[in-house]
Amino acid sequence: MFDLTGKAALVTGGSRGLGRAIALALAGQGADVAVNYRGNAAAADEVASRITSLGRRAVTIQGDTAAGREACEAIVRAALDALGSIDILVNNAGITRDNLLMRMDADEWDAVIDTNLSGPFWMTRAVSRPMMKARSGRIINMSSAAGRMGNPGQANYAAAKAGLIGLTKTTARELASRGITCNAIAPGLITTDLTAGLPEAATEALVGLTPLGHVGTVDDVAAAAVYFASDEARYVTGQVLGVDGGIVMGS
Ligand code: NAD
Repeated sequence: MFDLTGKAALVTGGSRGLGRAIALALAGQGADVAVNYRGNAAAADEVASRITSLGRRAVTIQGDTAAGREACEAIVRAALDALGSIDILVNNAGITRDNLLMRMDADEWDAVIDTNLSGPFWMTRAVSRPMMKARSGRIINMSSAAGRMGNPGQANYAAAKAGLIGLTKTTARELASRGITCNAIAPGLITTDLTAGLPEAATEALVGLTPLGHVGTVDDVAAAAVYFASDEARYVTGQVLGVDGGIVMGS
């Protein structure tokens, strides 16, 4: 099950947190992995060396996915040059800049939209040509429960993550005939650096709303990515999978 031998994956923001866990989980199932990172080369190198110790090829690619079309195209080119193909793209890179709506400034709005929505758009656009040529591909977008239910203090983040669901469904419809699937994962509260700064009261409130009653782990999310990346998920596209302890129950 879920054998990814011979596949090449590109994971954005792959040096820590969910991206790191996804990169390692894909490699654990046999994939070669290009680890995109923005600033922390040492952390990306550590992920790459773990991947190579699993017997897979790994490359680290510095690049800012929020920097627009050319930056994203350069990341994709570097991954193609190093690995020969991109069978799996995981649009994982994301940030928060929380503030109440009435206090949120343009920088906070723009940074989150640029990173969490425009980045995945340009990355998807850049991989679509090689994937269409190959007549196969897997695109996995990291949305969030916040994008499905809203979250006070996260107008920018929730809007970007909801937009990413629209991008996921449209990509799924446009590329389906070429054998490419596109799905989204919508995690709830997962312990990473991103959520480490949350006030304890906010964490407790979210856990209180979560039927399973606890936060999730990066491995819970990585397992969903492995599934979407696999051949076994060939008949699944345009879907949003909540890995969220049940905090959102969509129809
Ligand atoms: P994290 O902050 O630990 O990791 C995010 C990674 O993305 C970092 O390595 C960061 O450097 C990278 N990154 C940010 N901007 C980038 C850019 N412009 N270019 C390249 N890389 C960039 O956060 P995480 O918790 O691992 O989150 C990963 C993804 O999962 C994000 O999209 C986040 O919104 C989403 N998510 C996280 C949670 C959670 O509870 N942790 C919940 C829902 C969704």
